[in-house]
Amino acid sequence: MPARQKYRLRTRSDREVIREADPDRTYVDRATGEEFEVVGKLLPLAPSPSELPWAVENLRLCGCSLEQLVQKDVNDCPHCGRRLPALED
Ligand SMILES: [Zn+2]
Repeated sequence: MPARQKYRLRTRSDREVIREADPDRTYVDRATGEEFEVVGKLLPLAPSPSELPWAVENLRLCGCSLEQLVQKDVNDCPHCGRRLPALED
């Protein structure tokens, strides 16, 4: 099943969440009762082999000459197709 697109949602008081969302729906913050505003679409766009948001803590260099950032939970570099080495803890 393809992953659904994740969005960054924010309230007026700057509470921010990241969740799968339908941009045509209204989401309300249960804690404050404020409406969330969609402020951005998260990369990668669905569908993607990765479940991780495109954030620095989830990325590493693939190690090939293209020096592309790839998500830590993918097995093959999406840019060059190189098999990525297992992550060390
Ligand atoms: Zn690569």
